[in-house]
Amino acid sequence: MPIQLDIASALALTPGTACPAPGVGANTEPHPFSPFAHEFRPHLRTALQRAARPGYDAWLRHVESAAACIHPIRLYGTLATVDARTGELLASRHTSTLPDGVIYKACGNRRHTVCPACATTYQHDAYHLVRAGLVGGKTIPDSVRSHPAVFATLTAPSFGPVHSRDVRHCLCRDKSRCTCRTAPCHARRDAPTCPHGTALACWQRHAAGDAQLGRPLCPDCYDYAHHVAWNNHAGELWRRTKQHAERHLNQLARHRGLPPVRLSHGKAAEYQARGALHFHILLRLDGLAPDHPDVITPPPDGITVDDIIAALTLAASTITYTTDSHPACPDGWAIAWGEQHEIRAITLSASGDALDDQAVAAYLAKYSTKGTEATGHTSRRLTTETIDLYANPYGTHPERLIAAAWALGHAPGWSGLRRWAHMLGFGGHFLTKTRRYSVTFGSIRQERAAYKRAHALSNHPPQAEGLPEPTRFHRQGGLDGKTEETTLILGYLTYAGTGWHTTGDQLLANTAAAQARERTRAGRQELAHHAWEQSSSIPLAA
Ligand SMILES: [Zn+2]
Ligand SMILES: [Zn+2]
Ligand SMILES: [Zn+2]
Ligand SMILES: [Zn+2]
Repeated sequence: MPIQLDIASALALTPGTACPAPGVGANTEPHPFSPFAHEFRPHLRTALQRAARPGYDAWLRHVESAAACIHPIRLYGTLATVDARTGELLASRHTSTLPDGVIYKACGNRRHTVCPACATTYQHDAYHLVRAGLVGGKTIPDSVRSHPAVFATLTAPSFGPVHSRDVRHCLCRDKSRCTCRTAPCHARRDAPTCPHGTALACWQRHAAGDAQLGRPLCPDCYDYAHHVAWNNHAGELWRRTKQHAERHLNQLARHRGLPPVRLSHGKAAEYQARGALHFHILLRLDGLAPDHPDVITPPPDGITVDDIIAALTLAASTITYTTDSHPACPDGWAIAWGEQHEIRAITLSASGDALDDQAVAAYLAKYSTKGTEATGHTSRRLTTETIDLYANPYGTHPERLIAAAWALGHAPGWSGLRRWAHMLGFGGHFLTKTRRYSVTFGSIRQERAAYKRAHALSNHPPQAEGLPEPTRFHRQGGLDGKTEETTLILGYLTYAGTGWHTTGDQLLANTAAAQARERTRAGRQELAHHAWEQSSSIPLAA
């Protein structure tokens, strides 16, 4: 049985080996003197105890919907089955009659470093949400396909020279694994020396993933205060930039005798290695129906993709403002975009310089599950008890950023910097959109749940006793996958705890989920292969 390795307390299966392979050593007894011996045993012992108990299969089915999660939420209380039309109570059941006396709900965390399985689900939903805004579907009209759209990347300005890669024409699909030859980092023969005695030059050609990337040439010269203040204001900077571009496009429309337009956006925030934010933004041009402000209507012909690119380029290079005064910077910090920005047209099939909808949606979705990992820092919200573990004004780059955010957040009106010190000052969401850009995460989740339900019901018809599948809160009437809801399962539930009862439970549940994923993947490949065989009537070798 292959063992799922991405569990929270993943230990080497064979103690002492640095790189355990799945399956290898699953039965290996720990070395009697291994420092892990006392930790290693509970995995297997509790897993064996669980698997040997009567009702193990029922337990595995019971936890199925949360099985891949690292730390599911346990809930207890009453589950009521109600007729959706009349409201009549058909049956009720307390979770104490279910395996473990609780129901398990996946944690739903969007960050890969916190829960890989839930983050993958989130990423999947984000992809469909972003893509629906470009091609329609899921209640978004198909006519959005004809709206001009662009994809922009806007960056932060410089807060001091950092080690960097300078690749002029990178064509690598995954920029984080770019293998292109780079120019030297900071090639300066006449390198000036900073007041701290550091030569501001670096002749290295840094490889992608080099730990030096993003680190300042001289940390003592680097403007940490400006950096975190900028991160903190990046959301506002975007709001003003978009407003400016929209105004410009409306002037253009008036000038050309066209009705007004507006811009809808979806955007993902990404940290660069230096800890400054980057925004990846998808902008779609919409028309405006004055009587129905929430309806998506096509824009008038006559405003083109090039007009949007021009309007956004102008806005990104001219918008600048100054923050409120801060004791550390009485005149306030200047907030503007960096010089590097890229704005490209989006088409529904990749051609020339344009990006296609799938690439853009996958790109935004990918960043929606990341946090500050790229900067070398990950932590939860910091408090006065934990701040010293992560902040140090003389320490590493991330430690100095956190120290700056924490120190500046002391001033009245700047508490957000403390609250978001673990996010290096940025308090916004990682994936945001205008309300009318696309459907919501909620509706995508509901659709996914309905799909799963239809599948689960056709695979495992409800038991004769009519007991609900415990964690599914809505149930369909028929087994044919029709979407009409006839009975509704309502939960009156209380929080019982977080996580699996034992590491053995986690091992078993995560492994079962991994096996189910593998079966789905293999099934898809089989289908794809079959479809390909059916369609390819031309012999491969002529
Ligand atoms: Zn989870
Ligand atoms: Zn360098
Ligand atoms: Zn490259
Ligand atoms: Zn210096």
